[in-house]
Amino acid sequence: KEILDSRFFGAFDRFLKEGETLLQVTNVPPGSPTLEASRTWRGLIEDQLKRMDVLLAERGAFSRWCNRAQEIISGNDKKATIEKLREIVKEGASFPPDNETVANIRNLTEKCNQWIESTASALESDEKIPLSEAKIMLEEGNRLGILSKELRALRNGVKAARSWSNKLKKLSPDQAQAQSNLVQILLDEYEDMMISLPEEHKRLSHSVKNYCLCRRPFEGFMVKCEKCNDFYHGACVGISQARAEKKPIDNYVCVRCLVEKVFQASNSCIAGILRKWTSGADLKKARLADFQKQQRKTRRETKELEKLRMEAQKLSEEVAKLNETPPAAVTAAPVAPATTVSAPDAPAQVQVGPEGAVSEPEKQPEPATKSREELGRSIEKVTAAIKLCQSRLQDLHEAAVRLRNDEELENVKAEELKRWSIRVRSLILAPSSEELARRGRPLANGTLSPAMIGLMQEAEKYGLLRYADVKTVFNSFKCICWSAQAMDILARRPKASDTVAIVRQASKLKLPDEKGLRMMKSMAQRATSWNFKASRILMPIPGEKRRYDLKELRNLSNMAGGISPKKNLKTP
Ligand SMILES: [Zn+2]
Ligand SMILES: [Zn+2]
Repeated sequence: KEILDSRFFGAFDRFLKEGETLLQVTNVPPGSPTLEASRTWRGLIEDQLKRMDVLLAERGAFSRWCNRAQEIISGNDKKATIEKLREIVKEGASFPPDNETVANIRNLTEKCNQWIESTASALESDEKIPLSEAKIMLEEGNRLGILSKELRALRNGVKAARSWSNKLKKLSPDQAQAQSNLVQILLDEYEDMMISLPEEHKRLSHSVKNYCLCRRPFEGFMVKCEKCNDFYHGACVGISQARAEKKPIDNYVCVRCLVEKVFQASNSCIAGILRKWTSGADLKKARLADFQKQQRKTRRETKELEKLRMEAQKLSEEVAKLNETPPAAVTAAPVAPATTVSAPDAPAQVQVGPEGAVSEPEKQPEPATKSREELGRSIEKVTAAIKLCQSRLQDLHEAAVRLRNDEELENVKAEELKRWSIRVRSLILAPSSEELARRGRPLANGTLSPAMIGLMQEAEKYGLLRYADVKTVFNSFKCICWSAQAMDILARRPKASDTVAIVRQASKLKLPDEKGLRMMKSMAQRATSWNFKASRILMPIPGEKRRYDLKELRNLSNMAGGISPKKNLKTP
């Protein structure tokens, strides 16, 4: 071990030299009694020297190894690979670990192995590596300075990401449309890249992907639907950027999702009614729930009425008080707060009692400041609220009576209602065969399906059409058909005429949710009014040589921007 310790190199060399010098001592006279001893002694030295030669060779090999290792550690060997590094470490496996070079090269190898392991796992994963992370990894790899296939792959990946992002920069967003081929190539390239550039990728894919009702690229001010996550052009859905900035749009839900909600809600409405009629327990539960709902509403209204009456009482008392007080006191009251403000340094102005009740005059003027007009307005308001409340209570009472009558009527036909409900379930909600399902589905033009019409006729035959639940089921059938057709219209860029027609159809229905309808109405209105203006402007004027007024045409074109992104419209 000490042979390889440079501190003992000198001593070893000296020892070797001494041995060689001793061998040169040859002047032992022949026949001398020491001759025999001298021979033995010589043999011993020669033997030792042979052994020392072996050690010397070992030391030489270690020195050469150290030089090679040092080359790598110092970074002078630019072509050092991880394989070479591992080979050297293997060769030096038996060298003393406390030697500096040995320790350094082992340490370097350890670090390289760790780096390679973590880099390889990042490279092999299906996820792209974010550029910032890749840069840090690459920096670390370069600092270690050992070539490996992982380092090469990472270098190439970062290089590819940089060149991709440069190509993207050259592509100006305005030209994105025109260069859609190029955009597609870049998007394809991105798929194969190991480095991720999420922001750039989003921007790029927005420029070719289709969004909104109009199925056009991402462009200008857009709103996002919270439910389907699709983006909508503000202009297409009638939301201006200015309006959105004034009052931020929270939880925007698009017209498509709202119409789908009508479809779902109509289905669950039918399901609820069927449950009620097909199980005795559910019927009891449903009726109890209706009754309790009624009671809750009545209680709430009664409480509200009580509160309003008390308020009215208080107000009329105040009016009475106002009438008793002499006018002078009333006019003096508003002055009081002003005197109390300056009270600390002008005690003479405090006119109320010597007890120093400074806080009292502050409180007293408050109710008195309510003028006669204000009181009058409040009384009017409360009286109107009382009337409304009373009429609501009356309605509730009538509804309760109706509910009881209905229940009695229903009981007469309970068996028929149950049988019919089972039919509705097996034909519409849970058809048992493909054929039945086909017959139950609404027709393409939004009319009732053959199965629905059949059920309606059955209900009539059994005298069930008068029942609220049956009416609700029919309304729900119609809502299902209507929403199915509306969804179909909204799946593509809707035509103005289709939109107007579907909005008109809805007037005969009681939709479970009207938000979607309102949106479609406003879409139809905007399109209709633009169409009207356009056809008027484009109408030829008798005797007029210039066919169109350019200024008006330009106006019209600008207005069209309010119903759809400008880019889509060809100027007439
Ligand atoms: Zn759009
Ligand atoms: Zn949506």
